[in-house]
Amino acid sequence: MVIGVLALQGGFSEHIQMLRGLGAAAREIRQPADWAAGGLDGLVIPGGESTVMGKLLVELELMEPIRAAIAAGLPVFGTCAGLILLARFLGLGAGVRRNAYGRQLGSFATEADFAGRGAIPMVFIRAPYIESTSQGVEVLSVVDGHIVAARQKNILATSFHPELTGSPVVHEYFLDMVAA
Ligand code: GLN
Repeated sequence: MVIGVLALQGGFSEHIQMLRGLGAAAREIRQPADWAAGGLDGLVIPGGESTVMGKLLVELELMEPIRAAIAAGLPVFGTCAGLILLARFLGLGAGVRRNAYGRQLGSFATEADFAGRGAIPMVFIRAPYIESTSQGVEVLSVVDGHIVAARQKNILATSFHPELTGSPVVHEYFLDMVAA
């Protein structure tokens, strides 16, 4: 299983480590040639700054091909800024609030259930949350009444950073999606 990890900006290396630890091959996507090489079974869009990552995706002419691949069924997993990009540009039917917990004091850790697989540690860093969902979007985690993980067919998104905790549960869930 080959998972591309968007490596333009932000926290991609932790995702790569987590995926490799679970036995998947992870490949950095840094430039159009990496994407054009193809052969990906899934894609991870990491946390970082959604504005910066979005600008780079457009400049590199990667936004549209990635959008089309997701629309065609490529499994994708976005964390934090990746969730924002999925909701704003890449087909996830969700309204998101950026920096929803405040800019300065908005980083915290908690535990909550993920997709009925039990409580997992969740690290939030200037995180967004999902304010509204379209039909067909399944809510996977709720913290303090706000949606922090969701899935729509081949699209998985979390407000929090599972790659920064020791817990592999969310990445395992994603690899199960890819395998299915
Ligand atoms: N606040 C960032 C944004 O709006 C997301 C933060 C993160 O990815 N850790 O893009």
